[in-house]
Amino acid sequence: MGISRRAFLERVGKAGGYGALFVTMQGLGLLAAAQAYAGPPDLPPGSGKGVKVVVLGGGIAGLVSAYELRKAGYEVTVLEARERPGGRVWSIRRGTTVVQEGRPDQYVDWDEGRHHYFNAGPARIPQTHHAILGYCRDLKVPLEVMVNANRLAKLDFGGKVVTNAQATNDTRGAFAELLAKSIDRGALDQELTGLDKGRLIGFLSAYGDLTPQKVYGGSVRSGFKDWPGGYQHPPTAADPLKLKDMMDARFWGISLLFEEIIDMQATMLQPVGGMDRIAYALADAVQPSLRYGAVVREIRREGRGRASPSPTPPEPRHSTPTM
Ligand SMILES: Cc1cc2nc3c(=O)[nH]c(=O)nc-3n(C[C@H](O)[C@H](O)[C@H](O)COP(=O)(O)OP(=O)(O)OC[C@H]3O[C@@H](n4cnc5c(N)ncnc54)[C@H](O)[C@@H]3O)c2cc1C
Repeated sequence: MGISRRAFLERVGKAGGYGALFVTMQGLGLLAAAQAYAGPPDLPPGSGKGVKVVVLGGGIAGLVSAYELRKAGYEVTVLEARERPGGRVWSIRRGTTVVQEGRPDQYVDWDEGRHHYFNAGPARIPQTHHAILGYCRDLKVPLEVMVNANRLAKLDFGGKVVTNAQATNDTRGAFAELLAKSIDRGALDQELTGLDKGRLIGFLSAYGDLTPQKVYGGSVRSGFKDWPGGYQHPPTAADPLKLKDMMDARFWGISLLFEEIIDMQATMLQPVGGMDRIAYALADAVQPSLRYGAVVREIRREGRGRASPSPTPPEPRHSTPTM
């Protein structure tokens, strides 16, 4: 029995909803969808001359849009509901008021100081985020290294608390021992030549800090039972965690893999003085276009189909951090 394309798509929509229908139509070549693009916009200087654009929201996306559009000659207005730029990019410091619904406001009364701030939103810029790093360079926002991971941070191991260093290195040691045993017992003879087996055992010994008998008996990489006390007193390694206990441990979830995510890998960067330095630098660059306290309540279609946002005065209460 044949089925028309329309009937087929109707059924996909009923079964899988909008998302499924969208992807199916893309797959059938019925819907041209632009590929996500994160490179520099193709906006030659002067290409926007005589064109007015309203940007809704002065978060980092709105600010960057306004910055690029202005460079191309567009006449830009950014309508931002709050009294500050950045949106979720929000660094709090002395003088900031955190306005809360249904609970008392909080006032930040920390000492003044270049490092006395807290990034309440984004805090890290991966070195692979070339676009935002490019804006930092253009706008002369100084950056510094941000330490994203701490090997001596503690992980809760079913009630027993161990350092990330111990969890990581004991896992590595246990796996290296298992793999070395498998190789010795011939389990990988199909996959490896004799030479390769020797090479891999050599690597595993170093990788897992195995003994010459190819056993993992703990490693000073995981921490110390006896701390080093000079030449006469070399350290001894912390007792290793048991493989069975590690199998049951929650740290074998994301905890040990967090730093492997490409966006979490060192070197991580941050603006000196708070993440909002980028938002304020962009805001300075587009200043004549910015309107704070402008809450967009509706977008109306007019005459020839143009959209026209109508900002109205904001609610009386704002969260208004100071710089
Ligand atoms: C806790 C936290 C941690 C994060 N950590 C990181 C990180 O480390 N690294 C990273 O890269 N990303 C991180 N992110 C994600 C990043 O903050 C966001 O992706 C980014 O800030 C979003 O920017 P945006 O401009 O799209 O949206 P927003 O920042 O939400 O900006 C939207 C703007 O629109 C305004 N607005 C909304 N409605 C109206 C209206 N009706 N009228 C007028 N104005 C309006 C808002 O006030 C706001 O200023 C984090 C986010 C959070 C919340």
